[in-house]
Amino acid sequence: MPKQYSYFCAGPAKLPDEVLRGLQAGLLQYRGTHVSMLELSHRSNDFKDMLVATENNVRNLLKVPSNYRVLLMAGGGNGQFAAVPLNLISRTGKADYIVTGSWSDKAAKEATKYGTIHRCEVDKTAEGWRTCTDPEASYVYYCENETVDGVEFQTVPEVPAGVPLVCDMSSNIFTRPFDISKFGLIYGGAQKNCGTAGVTLVIIREDLLGNPLPTCPSILDYTITNKHQSIFNTPPVFPMYVMSEVLQWVAKEGGVEEMSKRTTEKSNLLYSIIDHSSGFYATTVHPTKRSRMNVVFRVGSKEGNEELEKKFVEEATQQGLLSLKGHRSVGGIRASLYNAITMEEAERLGEFMKAFQRDNKA
Ligand code: PMP
Repeated sequence: MPKQYSYFCAGPAKLPDEVLRGLQAGLLQYRGTHVSMLELSHRSNDFKDMLVATENNVRNLLKVPSNYRVLLMAGGGNGQFAAVPLNLISRTGKADYIVTGSWSDKAAKEATKYGTIHRCEVDKTAEGWRTCTDPEASYVYYCENETVDGVEFQTVPEVPAGVPLVCDMSSNIFTRPFDISKFGLIYGGAQKNCGTAGVTLVIIREDLLGNPLPTCPSILDYTITNKHQSIFNTPPVFPMYVMSEVLQWVAKEGGVEEMSKRTTEKSNLLYSIIDHSSGFYATTVHPTKRSRMNVVFRVGSKEGNEELEKKFVEEATQQGLLSLKGHRSVGGIRASLYNAITMEEAERLGEFMKAFQRDNKA
């Protein structure tokens, strides 16, 4: 039996141990209410106070300007793939999508139901980012971090003046500072860096509210959600509680600046092992596009030796390094290094990778 277990899953992902212990207490009784957090009414003052505190934490951590609204919604990232065009495409009926991997591809495909979508495809294996340049677009959409492909933007893409930039930050929100004023809208599912599945954070510039398509379902309508302060219907109370606890932890640990420092150290460690492995470990993602969140690589060769990769996952699991299998659509290995993964855990994985190479090189 391994002495320790580390969980490198892409999401739902590891939560900080300290947060889990706090949740355990809240599960039995939330702050002297004699009610479990699973039972707490969304109309109660205790719940409303928690929501206010969560919004304040989001605002402080991300330095959200006052002309932006902070919303909490259900439906996950896929809900937002529809909500974004349903709420924002009415201005011109068309939108531009920068496609860097499978999630932006899926978002672009969903959006074609609601308007004319132009795609700017980015090659993850080459240097340089393409962006979209249509000044008539209702918005330009991109995904900051492609969780499946291991591709992450290093800087915010340029867009034509006046065109709102929309960003899926599901897998890297709260992992570095962002200049929110560059965006029209940001969203992120909670299950990687700020909680568990069921709640999605949306940050929207106020002037973008108020123009949904007439067919927009109320539950996906940002204007309605804003009017009801994220309690239009019975919201996912427990996932919201988890988010509130995780954000307090992020603040206590030193905020997004500290998370950024840690994330860079953890991912540099693994990429350095890959780069010094004489091709035993390989990633096709160009060095300027490598994700700090999801280190995606092959074992044995650039194309991957599936037998060796199976062995890698099996032996890692035996040593308590869990959930390293790559996404089924790309294969290989994926180590997700979200905020809750410690440097020590990344080091243990690094040591395992080095030993595995020593024992298995041809
Ligand atoms: N965007 C990104 C970047 C993701 O990683 C995911 C899911 N892992 C999604 C969107 C879809 O989110 P959901 O499964 O919550 O619909």
